[in-house]
Amino acid sequence: MIGLNMKDSVETLVAAYIGLGSNLDNPVAQINSARTAIGSIEGVSELAFSSLYHSLPMGPQDQPDYVNAALCIETCLTPLALLRSLQAIETMQGRVRKEERWGARTLDLDILLYGDQEIDVSDLKVPHTGISERSFVLYPLFEIAPRLIIPGKGVLADLVAKCPLNGLRQMA
Ligand code: ATP
Ligand code: MG
Ligand code: MG
Repeated sequence: MIGLNMKDSVETLVAAYIGLGSNLDNPVAQINSARTAIGSIEGVSELAFSSLYHSLPMGPQDQPDYVNAALCIETCLTPLALLRSLQAIETMQGRVRKEERWGARTLDLDILLYGDQEIDVSDLKVPHTGISERSFVLYPLFEIAPRLIIPGKGVLADLVAKCPLNGLRQMA
């Protein structure tokens, strides 16, 4: 693992939430491997992990169904250092970036929330864009953080109440 530079870390620990998704090459194994890999990043420790959920694809419909989960971590990494580490894990697990938006992938790791911060730089938007409309994000998040407030968007419980399941189901 790459060592931490001072500019990659912050003084205090921050709770961050990550959305995990996969629909290629054994999605359940991909999500479980990603969970382990994220917990092994220097400056990251796991606080909570949701159940696995089965969801229908968003965007192109000619692709397999997804497995999704949400993870809460405590981290001293800056948001951009965390993003780079997550992208390295996506690449290690065979993610190939294509032109097509929302196409099939072995692994997608999105930063849903980083403390109570709102971030809008070219590579990183937090809270994650679309968080309030995506059942496969909101329901796993609600499972691990039922009292959460999403900066700029309101109370998570209210967002969940307004969001149809759209085929989402908790896996056994
Ligand atoms: P979506 O972001 O709508 O869920 P996606 O996850 O399929 O789509 P990716 O191809 O994984 O999109 O990422 C595209 C770009 O999104 C990345 O290069 C990254 O810089 C940017 N990005 C912006 N905000 C975030 C975030 N909160 N978490 C992860 N990536 C982000
Ligand atoms: Mg995504
Ligand atoms: Mg992504």
